[in-house]
Amino acid sequence: MIIKCGTDIIEISRIKDSIDNLGEKFINKIFTEDEIAYCESKKRQKYQHYAARFAAKEAMFKAISETLEDKYDLCWKNYEVVCDKNGKPHINILGINTDNIESMDISLSHCKEYATANVVILYKWKRQIMEYFDTHAHYDDEKFEKDREEVLEKIFNAGVTKCINMGCDIKSSQKAIEIANNHDFIYCGVGLHPEEIPQSEEELLKTISQIKELATKNNKVVAIGEIGLDYYWKQDNKELQKHAFIKQIELANELKLPVSIHTRDAIDDMIAIIRKHKIECGGVLHCCPFNRELVKHGLENGLYIGFGGTSTFKNSKNAKEIVNIVPNDRILIETDSPYLSPEPKRGTRNDSSNLKHVVEKLAEYKGMNVEEIATITYKNGKKLFKM
Ligand SMILES: [Zn+2]
Repeated sequence: MIIKCGTDIIEISRIKDSIDNLGEKFINKIFTEDEIAYCESKKRQKYQHYAARFAAKEAMFKAISETLEDKYDLCWKNYEVVCDKNGKPHINILGINTDNIESMDISLSHCKEYATANVVILYKWKRQIMEYFDTHAHYDDEKFEKDREEVLEKIFNAGVTKCINMGCDIKSSQKAIEIANNHDFIYCGVGLHPEEIPQSEEELLKTISQIKELATKNNKVVAIGEIGLDYYWKQDNKELQKHAFIKQIELANELKLPVSIHTRDAIDDMIAIIRKHKIECGGVLHCCPFNRELVKHGLENGLYIGFGGTSTFKNSKNAKEIVNIVPNDRILIETDSPYLSPEPKRGTRNDSSNLKHVVEKLAEYKGMNVEEIATITYKNGKKLFKM
């Protein structure tokens, strides 16, 4: 059993001003017909009674909102304060599922200047929320600079109880470690993204040895990533990209860590590398490239497949087919936040609370329910990243 309380205080003059200035428009928005009838019957004391009910509704918002998924949909008239024969107030909850509420107690009081309300709610059980594992995100990105802490709190409250922040170069890997160290549920990968490959072999080797140092000195590092090949943005350094990728696979093998692999417009070279270079501790083809050959070779070589926003896009035509090639014990979910928001959030800044849309799509494609997908992908993530 859990107990929640909410309390609120309001000046009578504030309510009086609102009623005098806005009249019925205000009253009808906030109060039910029965409440209005009751308050109006109190003649000179009506403002006090309106104010007490206003405070009661505010107090209810505070006491109830954490337990509801769609708390932003609640409105004033979901709560109605009524009095029994003895004048004791109680609250009717209208249009909300109250199955998990055991009992409620409310006390109201008012004087000339203010009204106060106190609400205590006893719940039968805590609403079970699904747990999600976001296996690939970038909260070190500057797009989270202004509100990173708020976003991380939000995603945790949305059920994302494990998340791996992948690094893309030395600076972002360091930042990923810092974020992971400050939050129990965040882990991190360190690595050199194909778009961040330095100009020379010498610089590359130096960077990789720095990555090695970061990985060995920090125990929240659970992967080498994000690494891979990207010929969409850069075609003039293909050899160096391949070299960097292979070197980082070797580093992961040496450190006994899995890898997180990025592929864009480099299907053939990717297949050739994963066939030739054994990835000893496994890994994931992140942001599933909807290419049957690559997915097939990835699976044959022990890799997991990470599905994110792109699997919900209407133009990912063979998404359903590819999702169904991947056995349940090899699927992972991810967001790649702040990029690649899933439908229906496409085009906005992504965060891990959007994983539910990915899970819904995978469930639809696989003919399973969302709880099963969330549970399976959570278990798979824990297995691959050894948590
Ligand atoms: Zn990424």
